[in-house]
Amino acid sequence: MTAEKTCNTCSDKGCSARDRRPGEDEEEYLGRQRLQSRMCRIHHKVMVLSGKGGVGKSTVAVNLATALALAGKRVGILDVDIHGPSVPKLLHVEGSKITGTDEALLPVTIPCGPGSLSIMSIGFLLRDRDDAIIWRGPRKFGAIQQFLQDVEWGELDYLIVDSPPGTGDEPLAVAQLIDHPDGAIVVTTPQEVAVQDVRRCIMFCRQLELTVLGVVENMSGFTCPKCGELVRIFGADGGRAMAEEMGVPYLGAIPIEPEVVVSGDSGTPMVQSRPHSETAKAFGRMVRTLLEPELRAAAARGDGGKPSGAMKIAVPVTAGVLSSHFGHCDQFAIFDVKEDGTTIEGQRMVTPPPHEPGTFPRWLHEQGATIIIAGGMGSRAQSLFDQNGIRVVVGATSADPERIVREYLEGRLTTGANVCDH
Ligand code: ADP
Repeated sequence: MTAEKTCNTCSDKGCSARDRRPGEDEEEYLGRQRLQSRMCRIHHKVMVLSGKGGVGKSTVAVNLATALALAGKRVGILDVDIHGPSVPKLLHVEGSKITGTDEALLPVTIPCGPGSLSIMSIGFLLRDRDDAIIWRGPRKFGAIQQFLQDVEWGELDYLIVDSPPGTGDEPLAVAQLIDHPDGAIVVTTPQEVAVQDVRRCIMFCRQLELTVLGVVENMSGFTCPKCGELVRIFGADGGRAMAEEMGVPYLGAIPIEPEVVVSGDSGTPMVQSRPHSETAKAFGRMVRTLLEPELRAAAARGDGGKPSGAMKIAVPVTAGVLSSHFGHCDQFAIFDVKEDGTTIEGQRMVTPPPHEPGTFPRWLHEQGATIIIAGGMGSRAQSLFDQNGIRVVVGATSADPERIVREYLEGRLTTGANVCDH
């Protein structure tokens, strides 16, 4: 069989899967092509790693995946944590029957907000934990490889990979097998030991030329349920300082919240069960950072994923709600956002000059706007906003502008089609 027949999902003539590697037999070659053709249909692949177990890696992976799906993305979550596959339980799909053929395992897919969540876990295939423990070296690699090759995801916007913990052979195998990942999110806790482990984990990514998308500091402080004070049990900002020192982005801190355990046990992630909790807000910020390249660049500059300078969000308004055709609006609501990137600190209504092509982008730029959230907007207008340094979010529905901005800041804004895509 030729490369073209098996890897027929893309026309990339330089695709590394087309040529047989030295020493590779027919079966290995076809398996590698199968994996490649499946990975080709996934737009972004993000690995979630940790220096050691028990730091909340799986919790972060499922909340991130769910938050992306709630933002309207088609998301897959792949649980390759061979010794502790906990994703099925965290998403309440344990015991699901996996369907498929010899060459294609179909993930369990559940609707999630406007998006979808497809779940595949090595736990679905292990009869019991001893199955994984008796695998040694090459057998373990072979099992992980076979598993990755066989899962048929279809077209996905994001694949979140819950990798085995540590920096040993298992996470190495996964990192090598996932084709061109966007990078890795490294989860740590504030304790010094974990911070030491996480340094090793970052070095591991560097050796593999795997971009570190950011460090998440989990179980960082405890909010007293009685007085609301945040108690930094293990000291403050260790994760941020470590990220700065290692030259990697800091994606934020998640507090210890007893509800995280409850939501894990009930199989509904915090971003869904408690969208207003500190934990859900922290995930909302992470998702915005992942979805917005300019925020990612800001995070890389070391300002914690917040945009440089103040964020001002403009919403076109007609009769008190978002105007679906921004050019016909009566007024703009302009929101000033605090340095934390999540809190609205001021709001004013302003009347724009008469609408002519190019007027609004220039005028909103003079008003200091950095983002416009609109219902519909043609591509020419979008590029004019872009030239004026204003990022465009389209597809928002007509609703109260303050609600729209709050949802946007919490990473929960649901956007549909661009209603004016001419
Ligand atoms: P890992 O994948 O790193 O082994 P898990 O995500 O399975 O870790 O989390 C280990 C335990 O810690 C779970 O019981 C989980 O509910 C709990 N946990 C994780 N993050 C938090 C948090 N922020 N607050 C409270 N408990 C947490």
